[in-house]
Amino acid sequence: MSVTQHENEKSDVVIIGAGIIGICCALKLVERGLSVTLVDSNAPCQGASFGNAGVISPWSCVPQSVPGLWKKLPKWVIDPEGPIFIRKRYLASFLPWGLKFLQAGKIEKVEQIGDAMMVLSNRSPSHYRELLSETSELELVKDSYYIFAYKKAEQASFDLFGWQMRKKRNVPLSLITAAELQELEPSISPDFQAAILIHEQARALDPHAIGKGLVSKARALGVKFFQSKVKFIQKDENVWVTNCGENRYFSDKLVLAAGVWSASLLRPFGYDLPLQAERGYHLLCQNPGITINHSIMDVERMCVASQMESGIRIAGTAEFAGIDAEPDYRRAFVFKKALKNLFPLIDVEHAEPWMGRRPTFPDSLPCIGPVSNLKGLFAAFGHSHYGLGQAPNTGQIIADCIMGKKSGVDLTPYRIDRFK
Ligand SMILES: Cc1cc2nc3c(=O)[nH]c(=O)nc-3n(C[C@H](O)[C@H](O)[C@H](O)COP(=O)(O)OP(=O)(O)OC[C@H]3O[C@@H](n4cnc5c(N)ncnc54)[C@H](O)[C@@H]3O)c2cc1C
Repeated sequence: MSVTQHENEKSDVVIIGAGIIGICCALKLVERGLSVTLVDSNAPCQGASFGNAGVISPWSCVPQSVPGLWKKLPKWVIDPEGPIFIRKRYLASFLPWGLKFLQAGKIEKVEQIGDAMMVLSNRSPSHYRELLSETSELELVKDSYYIFAYKKAEQASFDLFGWQMRKKRNVPLSLITAAELQELEPSISPDFQAAILIHEQARALDPHAIGKGLVSKARALGVKFFQSKVKFIQKDENVWVTNCGENRYFSDKLVLAAGVWSASLLRPFGYDLPLQAERGYHLLCQNPGITINHSIMDVERMCVASQMESGIRIAGTAEFAGIDAEPDYRRAFVFKKALKNLFPLIDVEHAEPWMGRRPTFPDSLPCIGPVSNLKGLFAAFGHSHYGLGQAPNTGQIIADCIMGKKSGVDLTPYRIDRFK
């Protein structure tokens, strides 16, 4: 097909996906003086980026798969209210990915993965503040502790593998008693006997509003946003064509930031990526009757509660059911129990459920950088549990790649061909 460039003017860069990753890429690229078009089938920030737990950590360095995890899996998987759920019909499709996930948790791999995660998370709170400067959304990034709350004091031990990983990387941590925890969070149940704090963190009071604020800023700087579903991408001579049926967008460079949907757009080029929709849920209590001050992880139930502008949100769960399966909101309503367990006086009556799809590779790392053998195409997807925190650095790395600037970041751990 020959390219007719009448439909839409050519941009320097087209970005597919206006989740937090695509948005940060757009902002970083327009700030470097490039013309940028952002295309999404929805309004900006409606995917996983809409309803996450709001943790903005500069210290994320513990992947989901770690040595010894397999011992806990059977108990979690058979508990219908547990943190992991695999739909029966999806089990056969899930297994090959599950094996790769367990392999990624081998001791010889996790330390390198941890280092690569740290690079992407580095400075995330201040990075957001720079991006949001001069916008009213700046105040939606709030300094916070990340509190890991334990019911049994002896379980709050720095000897555990995850805390060892953090310690090796100089993450600022402290262990507090039940009384100190009560002082920080007066609404927490006295049943929680100890906590480990991660310091120098931030939390988003409204991840969706932050995304929208960044899009407004990007648009004011010249980024064009189009709401259109991308059917396929192709290269015509030296031009990338983003084909949405009636609309087509042309560019020298194309960034794939379509979250979990990115893999299907690459399949025609021979890529069969192990990108899983790791479906997570949240429950938002609009009139909780209490307030909390930090991000709080109930370590036993593996869910995170946080005060948002609109109420208290609790988020978690890894449900494997495929991308398109209908949400099972029972998994969100399970959080009512978790909330009551954490905060006995919370009112959970007016609670709204939500489901989003984390784009997850077995090694908890995203793909970032040039797509091998496809000149001008760049990957920026697969940020699993950490995309809110890792978005600003991802945007910066992508902008550096596209500008041909050396960023000082070794992109080897994020290469798209690492799964071959
Ligand atoms: C319950 C839960 C809690 C979480 N908590 C945290 C947290 O506390 N901290 C943290 O850092 N991370 C957290 N995460 C992870 C984080 O939300 C994700 O990693 C991040 O949002 C991924 O962003 P994204 O832009 O890649 O994907 P998305 O936000 O899903 O955006 C992808 C976009 O691509 C668009 N798209 C897809 N296909 C097409 C197409 N064909 N044409 C046009 N557009 C298309 C979609 O419409 C969507 O808008 C959590 C996730 C969940 C689910």
